[in-house]
Amino acid sequence: MMLSSSHSPETTSFSKDLRQFLYGRECPLEEIPFSEQLIRDHVSAGWINLTDGIQTSGDGFFSSITGRKKYLCVRCGNANFAAFASITCGRCGRNCVYCRHCLNMGVIRSCTKLATWIGPAPDRAVPTPEEKLCAWSGNLSPEQTKAAAELDSALSEGDSFLIWAVTGAGKTELLFPAVEHALLRGERVVLSTPRTDVVRELYPRIKAAFPEIPVSALYGGSSERQPEAPLVIATTHQLIRFHRYFDRVIIDEVDAFPYHFDPMLAYAVKKAAKKGASIAYLSATPPADLKNAFLSGKLRGVKISRRYHGFPLPVPRFMWTGNWPQSLRKGVLPKSFIEWVRGKNAADRPLFCFVPSVRLAHLVTELLQKEGFASVAGVHAQDPNRHEKVTAFREGRIRILVTTTILERGVTVPGAEAAVFGADDPVFDERALVQISGRVGRSADRPDGDIVFFHNGKTLEMIRARRHIEQMNREGGF
Ligand SMILES: [Zn+2]
Ligand SMILES: [Zn+2]
Repeated sequence: MMLSSSHSPETTSFSKDLRQFLYGRECPLEEIPFSEQLIRDHVSAGWINLTDGIQTSGDGFFSSITGRKKYLCVRCGNANFAAFASITCGRCGRNCVYCRHCLNMGVIRSCTKLATWIGPAPDRAVPTPEEKLCAWSGNLSPEQTKAAAELDSALSEGDSFLIWAVTGAGKTELLFPAVEHALLRGERVVLSTPRTDVVRELYPRIKAAFPEIPVSALYGGSSERQPEAPLVIATTHQLIRFHRYFDRVIIDEVDAFPYHFDPMLAYAVKKAAKKGASIAYLSATPPADLKNAFLSGKLRGVKISRRYHGFPLPVPRFMWTGNWPQSLRKGVLPKSFIEWVRGKNAADRPLFCFVPSVRLAHLVTELLQKEGFASVAGVHAQDPNRHEKVTAFREGRIRILVTTTILERGVTVPGAEAAVFGADDPVFDERALVQISGRVGRSADRPDGDIVFFHNGKTLEMIRARRHIEQMNREGGF
């Protein structure tokens, strides 16, 4: 452990540097860059709390028979027995259990102590109320204006709030008044989203909107970290580093994988938020529990059925391809699909082509290239060049982007049209299909566009997705 502080602890005071480092975080003891003695003194004085990184239960009768214990990783909330492993620990010399779930953020093992600051909170620099923090000068649509005002009053009254908004409603901009007022009250705000791509897209926009405020962007491999930034944009994963830090939590794409399927990320949100912090949930396709809470009046919220530019959502068309898995096995793309791509490509529209799997992302890309299309690229979650390819697509250097559902949301390209190849595959549920359809017609100067589900037999999910979009258009007054 490095000794980087010369503060000598007294019983009545504490090291401000140590507090500054630790406040709002949950940090393994060995990662705190202060002397162990200083930390121990703070623990005995009651300024720092230490918790076991892995909690063990099951020393009772059942486990004495089965030999099985239950573990909980206190940092990430993992309680799945299969996601733990044990090693002979080089540090404590015993047999230590470690958490595999959050391993990519540094190891948490049985002998890990997690430190949190429980002493007095540091003073915050509160801007003067007259200060104008938001530099965004665009105009909100009437729907956005109404939603922005309702969100602002809910958050300032300490209530949670659901924004149920169609894709392209302009959710980000309508957050600005509520964020500005929270910052003026001296509160810490995090805007969290499950996907790295979305953090990367939001960061420059948020920084431009709040030029005077330090903003941190946190995602795996990010370097945009500002100590004590009152405004943080983070993947939901990165929230596990925080502890009771944020006064306001805004969760974008609350229904998105992995948040929706991973209860550990809900754990992270809860841990990062202060007790009683209000939470704003944003979604075009809210999960059932939030939807029901909103519809029954238990959760405040607003529904936005119109896009910011005032045009309706493009409604998906269904196009039959015949037995596409069989065609692919023969190394051929179905005719209806290839003709559609040819037509769009000739009209010079950027094309998203969604496919059900990584394998098909490779295969369909290859077959399109064989058909003579230049500037085609395939992309998937583990693709090391994913960000470069998305940028090239945005900039028009790639014209056809074949992708798995990883790009079903967040990435917006003006004038883009979309195909779902193999739309009858179970990976494309209603939510995914609604999100994918939402890629089309996003910009005010190209508010229309084609979205086609290529299939070998309509599924219920395809029909539901189309109904969902038609319903939103009706509610939007079209
Ligand atoms: Zn150990
Ligand atoms: Zn863990």
